[in-house]
Amino acid sequence: MTDCLFCKIIAGNIPSKKVYEDDKAFAFEDIRPQAPTHVLIVPKKHIVDIKEATEQDAELIGYCNLVAAKIARERDLKHGYRTVYNVGPDAGQTVFHLHLHLLGGRQLHWPPG
Ligand code: 5GP
Ligand code: ZN
Repeated sequence: MTDCLFCKIIAGNIPSKKVYEDDKAFAFEDIRPQAPTHVLIVPKKHIVDIKEATEQDAELIGYCNLVAAKIARERDLKHGYRTVYNVGPDAGQTVFHLHLHLLGGRQLHWPPG
């Protein structure tokens, strides 16, 4: 997808602070961090969001969660962390390339705002 911000970040056409990369997934620091750790984990495949995903994407989506857990381990977030998808306008989704937020390093409130 040529006109997608996160596809451009994955391709290196827009700079980002890369945290992790392999053939399936890419992770980078959120530009407006909401916690000491705020990393976005994205599949390299352009998927709009979780509600547009198909069963063929199931393994990839699960894999992104494992990448988040790996980063959380590396960051020593042993007191906990949160992974979240914002889906659609009510949840405040602003970028339409599937991304998992990894938040940690502070007490996270529940329910989220
Ligand atoms: P959403 O609101 O769609 O769930 O999350 C989009 C996230 O992408 C936001 O947390 C926002 O701060 C982050 N973001 C938007 N543009 C950029 C960018 O150009 N670079 C980086 N690293 N993060 C971005
Ligand atoms: Zn994309």
